[in-house]
Amino acid sequence: MQKFFNCCFELEFYLKIAIACTMVQQGFYFLFNNIELNFITQVLLYWLLGSISFYAIGFFIEKFIKSKDNLTEKLTARVKKVKKQSFPAFTLTGIITGEIKSLIAALIILYLAPEVHRGNSLLLNLGWFLMRIVAADFCFYVAHRLFHTKPFLKIHLKHHEFQDTSSFVAGHKSLVEYIIVTITDVLPIFIFGYDITQLCAWTLIGNIYNLEGHSSLSIFFIPSDFHDLHHTNFNGNYGIHGFWDRVFKTLNHPTKKLGIMFPVSILENKIKTLKLSSSVDVEVS
Ligand SMILES: [Zn+2]
Ligand SMILES: [Zn+2]
Repeated sequence: MQKFFNCCFELEFYLKIAIACTMVQQGFYFLFNNIELNFITQVLLYWLLGSISFYAIGFFIEKFIKSKDNLTEKLTARVKKVKKQSFPAFTLTGIITGEIKSLIAALIILYLAPEVHRGNSLLLNLGWFLMRIVAADFCFYVAHRLFHTKPFLKIHLKHHEFQDTSSFVAGHKSLVEYIIVTITDVLPIFIFGYDITQLCAWTLIGNIYNLEGHSSLSIFFIPSDFHDLHHTNFNGNYGIHGFWDRVFKTLNHPTKKLGIMFPVSILENKIKTLKLSSSVDVEVS
């Protein structure tokens, strides 16, 4: 029974990502369907959407949600307490360097990957995004697990400077790690080509779950302290989510968060409570 719920728990995350990406893709399709976007416009769009959404979502979580104590308390996914460690203030040089890096990445990715038009079929998009999140999770798992081996550890240490993670730790990584993680993320589009509306949706939703995953909160996509535990324990939980860690037995069991956005955890909790109360009844009788 526990295995079944764990499987549903992982599936829920993948499905949520696929559904959210599909919905956002429909919006971008509606916006760009009748417009001819040339190469430079696509690069600028891809870069700006990634950068603006990264800062906007990060500041929304850190400055708006976390400024409200009752909301933070309600949403917190952190179980293991860590020493407070605030994320350093942004500097102009840091922002400019980061933006140059992501503009170059956008330019190279769109130059190398072939463009395709996949249209707005809901089923096709859902299938595409489901494949992408499972593949991205697997590629990230492999790369991240390698980062934690002796020869590659140096590449990854910058990301682990924070145990008390803030949303922006999501982007706190060395240049080599940035390049490798970006390649693992966009690998399928080098093989199957990119559709600009799908790429924009993937970038936006990717930023949301990545920033949320580092915020120590469970808001929409992140239903546990899975990645929080990775930052506190250093070992285990190498994936974006727990599926591949369960498969390869590297999971530090996360504490599942109950909430309206996480129906599997609620159902699991309800059934466990029901079983417990019925076994107590049997014992009493
Ligand atoms: Zn790590
Ligand atoms: Zn991290």
